[in-house]
Amino acid sequence: MKHILVLALVFLLSLGVVPEAHGASLEAVAPVVGDVVRDFDPPAQPWLAGHRGVDLSTRYGAQVLSAMDGVVSFAGMVAGRPVISIRHGDLTTTYEPVWAVVRAGDPVSVGQIIGNLSDGHECPQPTCLHWGLKRGETYLDPLSLLGGGNVRLITAEGVEAVRRRAAELRMSGWDGRISSSGLINPTSGTITSLYGLRLHPVYGVWRFHDGLDIATGCGTPLLAVAAGRVTESYYNSGYGYRLVIDHGRVSGRDLKTSYNHAQGYSVRVGDQVRQGQVVGTVGTTGTSTGCHLHFQTWIGGELVNPKPLLP
Ligand SMILES: [Zn+2]
Ligand SMILES: [Zn+2]
Repeated sequence: MKHILVLALVFLLSLGVVPEAHGASLEAVAPVVGDVVRDFDPPAQPWLAGHRGVDLSTRYGAQVLSAMDGVVSFAGMVAGRPVISIRHGDLTTTYEPVWAVVRAGDPVSVGQIIGNLSDGHECPQPTCLHWGLKRGETYLDPLSLLGGGNVRLITAEGVEAVRRRAAELRMSGWDGRISSSGLINPTSGTITSLYGLRLHPVYGVWRFHDGLDIATGCGTPLLAVAAGRVTESYYNSGYGYRLVIDHGRVSGRDLKTSYNHAQGYSVRVGDQVRQGQVVGTVGTTGTSTGCHLHFQTWIGGELVNPKPLLP
């Protein structure tokens, strides 16, 4: 049912994931009016990456509502982002990134305004709410709360847009994986050289390797790892055809990426790119011994190892 909201809406009740009654009212509402732009995709093991909630796209500053009657159990910062948790009997709902207008201990009723949407949660839209649901330590699909209600989360056009976007991503060569930092792989291939000190393949001397090499056939699509804006595109004798994308805030940090040695790029400086958009093709221009991508990442302006950021 991944990425197919219609199935989510139609089959939620039949999946048997609607929580049983626990004293309080079971009435629930969607915390914002918006499209589901990323589905619930819990990891197979607790330590693996996954998506432990759903993302609802809506505007920056939108009012966020409590999904059910409950008591605020947390309102504060987690890893640099504002988060609200609300207890509803044995269930807990979480909302992020949201600037709270409630405090821990406050009772809230279904539909009550609990805060305003901030930005920083990486999703296919500029701003979105990450909405989570837990019973104990087990993550559940929050959309299951709406199974029996009359809430309409998404319009028919919204469903169509989600489907189109999913098809577009598949066609771009995306392998379906998203890292815990919210990034996808820049291309499909084999990592042939890590970031760090290495013996240079052309000069035969120890050099700091300032990126991650992914080898694959020339002509393989290069994908934007996240949404952003192209800030630089030029030829350099070392890096070959080079592209720099500024992604703004990604998972709460300022991220820039660079693609090097390409045959060429299909985007220009100033262009906005979507996550998964094809931005060029793998090549071997500049100082290069074969078809590969030399991929670089900067966080807060500082060059960092790209590997931990990727799926
Ligand atoms: Zn999310
Ligand atoms: Zn390299």
